[in-house]
Amino acid sequence: MSSLTRRQLIKYLGASAVAGSGLFGFNNQAWSNKSAHIVIVGGGIGGAALAKYLRIADGSVRITMIEPNPEYTFCPGSNEVFNGHETLDNLTYNYDTFKTRFGVNMIQDKAVAIDYDKHRVRVSSGDWVSYDKLVVSTGPDFMYDAVEGYSAQLAATDLPHAWKAGPQTAKLKQQLDSMRQGGTVVISSPDGAYRCPPAPYERASMIAEQLEKVNPTAKILILDSKNGFTFDKHYWHYWTERHGYGTDNARISWISEQEGGRAVKVDAKNKVITTANDEKVKADVINIIPPHKASKFAMDTGLAKGQRWVPFDTKTFASDVHPDVFVIGDMVDAPMSKTGYIASNQAKVVAQAIVDQLEGREPGTPFITNNCVAIISEEYGMSIADTHRFGGDTYLLQKRLSKVTDNPYERRIRAELAKNWQRTFRKDIFS
Ligand SMILES: Cc1cc2nc3c(=O)[nH]c(=O)nc-3n(C[C@H](O)[C@H](O)[C@H](O)COP(=O)(O)OP(=O)(O)OC[C@H]3O[C@@H](n4cnc5c(N)ncnc54)[C@H](O)[C@@H]3O)c2cc1C
Repeated sequence: MSSLTRRQLIKYLGASAVAGSGLFGFNNQAWSNKSAHIVIVGGGIGGAALAKYLRIADGSVRITMIEPNPEYTFCPGSNEVFNGHETLDNLTYNYDTFKTRFGVNMIQDKAVAIDYDKHRVRVSSGDWVSYDKLVVSTGPDFMYDAVEGYSAQLAATDLPHAWKAGPQTAKLKQQLDSMRQGGTVVISSPDGAYRCPPAPYERASMIAEQLEKVNPTAKILILDSKNGFTFDKHYWHYWTERHGYGTDNARISWISEQEGGRAVKVDAKNKVITTANDEKVKADVINIIPPHKASKFAMDTGLAKGQRWVPFDTKTFASDVHPDVFVIGDMVDAPMSKTGYIASNQAKVVAQAIVDQLEGREPGTPFITNNCVAIISEEYGMSIADTHRFGGDTYLLQKRLSKVTDNPYERRIRAELAKNWQRTFRKDIFS
């Protein structure tokens, strides 16, 4: 490989904002104690993207990331674990690249408090970490009490929601694989804003594909707390074609909120779900996806200001609570889908806003995109492209949704695109 100069590399990467010691040949000695210290709470998609793109934007700042887990497992792609097309190992990354390539100081602990006046965060060991700017991306928590009888403890044991990829995903797969022939899987899909709007239906589709092979008389029932969902026409079209949707013998059935689909109670011992119409549904495998709210950390530190989601300054993503604290990802009250792609693009906006502020410039105008891809099977994919243009105190949304099609090539290409997107997205964030 020919040796590129740093200038050529920067040009090649399109990283025109790289300054100071730069991304490559990064050297810890480059920092002085006078360098600004940026602390990131949460090493998921939003936090990791922030660390990487902040380093690209400014080689001289000190970056510390606080994350309790040594590894991160991507949710995008995790539904494909259920039909055996993906593995949790393949979706799991450690933080070595951040330490060695991007010069990020990792603290493996949980953040528990913020002292806004003194600009410092406390971790569960009791230590305080001082910051000049703080970015919080701690994701969502789950509202277990929306379904009577459900709890965090049941989610960790008999009734995994698997809406955070990892051990619960493995547990749910094992339950599905060992289900009796002709058994029933019940998936309860939430209302309100939740991460990855099409993912409950993608999950049902992946499970159906697997059952078709190994347990062909088994059924999936989706109990919904909504009357429609992202890509619904695509799903209904393909489920009709492949899984007899709408017939008495359908492999997948969907009951909307207005038809009484909302699940209100679960009897974990007898595996019975009760709906809002007081119908009792007996299941073999139960997958309740609870409604979401901002993380416990956002609630405990007052970032959420007692609301369900965290408010923020629409231009810079600075928190309403303190201008040196920024908030991104699934926990914010943004008029945007709760996706990893959005979280990573919010991270880029914040990285640039922080560098602008440190260098005494007015932060630029944000433009945020969402490229949501989903699959129903290896042969059928679809996509949404959203653009969110900053328009004063709000964002103007333009949406482009792929059309329902019977063209096998188009369907297949979109499925391939979805899989490629997942691979390249993971690489973008963690390497
Ligand atoms: C089944 C499924 C499929 C999905 N598919 C897609 C997809 O195809 N495309 C897409 O764009 N998105 C997808 N998503 C959504 C995507 O995973 C989320 O939108 C994304 O992870 C949000 O990033 P985040 O940083 O807000 O939260 P997360 O990625 O959840 O990261 C939060 C991090 O904060 C850490 N944390 C929490 N509390 C603390 C604390 N007190 N101190 C320190 N750290 C803390 C957690 O350990 C975690 O690592 C999917 C989600 C699911 C569930």
